[in-house]
Amino acid sequence: MSAKAPSSRVAAASQQRTSLIPETLEELKSTGGPSLQVQTPAQQRREERRRRQRSLDNIGVPSFSRFLQDAGVDKLERGVAEILQLNIGLYCNQACSHCHVESSPLRTEMMDRATAERCLQLAQEAQPHGLAMLDITGGAPELNSEFRYLVEQAAAMGLQTIDRCNLTVLLEPGQEDLPDFLARHQVRVVASLPCYSTTNVDEQRGSGVFQRSITGLQLLNAVGYGQPGSGLHLDLVYNPNGAFLAPPQDALQDAYKAELESAYGIVFNSLLAMNNMPIKRFADYLLRKGELQEYMQTLVQGFNVESTSSLMCRNTISVGWNGRIYDCDFNQQLDLGLRHLQGSQDAHQGSTVFDIGSLMELQQAPIAVDSHCFGCTAGSGSGCQGATS
Ligand code: SF4
Ligand code: SF4
Repeated sequence: MSAKAPSSRVAAASQQRTSLIPETLEELKSTGGPSLQVQTPAQQRREERRRRQRSLDNIGVPSFSRFLQDAGVDKLERGVAEILQLNIGLYCNQACSHCHVESSPLRTEMMDRATAERCLQLAQEAQPHGLAMLDITGGAPELNSEFRYLVEQAAAMGLQTIDRCNLTVLLEPGQEDLPDFLARHQVRVVASLPCYSTTNVDEQRGSGVFQRSITGLQLLNAVGYGQPGSGLHLDLVYNPNGAFLAPPQDALQDAYKAELESAYGIVFNSLLAMNNMPIKRFADYLLRKGELQEYMQTLVQGFNVESTSSLMCRNTISVGWNGRIYDCDFNQQLDLGLRHLQGSQDAHQGSTVFDIGSLMELQQAPIAVDSHCFGCTAGSGSGCQGATS
């Protein structure tokens, strides 16, 4: 297939600009199970704990902490907070089968202005101590009312910003200027594209998502993203379409680059190959297919001690839409709150951005690890570079 000229691609993209949300809702209706229902946080916590415990009990593995110790790592130590990751809401125009945050158009949770302002204040105060990046995720973060405010303020403060973009959001009505907005603020785009084949992407992310994602990438390329010398960084994220580990990143990146450029004229900077985390909707998916235990076993057997030096929890502080603070986006989805307050014994009563005086005071807080952490340490150890949308 030959690549179209950039201008005709952008014109074609404009013609496709209809919302994906009606199709997503229709698919939810036809395939909806318990995992697609909105639960209260307490229900989610109970269900998640039961599921994780069951998978571990059944395969009889030692704890993650024990694995670390046996591998010569006493415990995970937190370093300087270099990245503040904000999950600003669970609303999304998609409802992917592997979504570890269970986003969909039915979710209504969103960060408010007061919480966004407090996060920016904490980030600004932490800049002289090493904080350099604001990493914004969701849901589809661009559909949250605070997204553009956060990007503009972060740029004014001199912070690098990441947008964890699902690509199809670029075609949502009202987002016509999104590529220009991102480029103007030098936002680094990290975008999900779990395969370069239509079938695999649509199976995991919903019908029609692949073609819309391709168009979204072309729109980003058209404003300079991924183009040599533009300074506009575009990374893609691969995650497996099933219960297996991500393959080595470099060979996969070469294949993505060759295929996307020859078929669609798309260029990008790097490919990040991530494992799927055995939590939330992906855990449900595995449970339904009878593959949860096998997948946990694969993760445990794939434990790679070298990965422990670059885990997200070592240099990132994660904040949820409601201001709660976590070690990482995965702990956030399990509601394993970061405990910095003296004497706090309950992991589910962690602190919020309004409880702390600075991000620096979190440095001594222990990192909460559990069975899902095997998802970060399996294989090439690339599974923990952050949430993707
Ligand atoms: S899930 Fe990954 S990033 Fe989060 S605490 Fe566990 S090892 Fe660290
Ligand atoms: S994986 Fe990303 S795009 Fe898919 S439903 Fe979840 S947040 Fe939305």
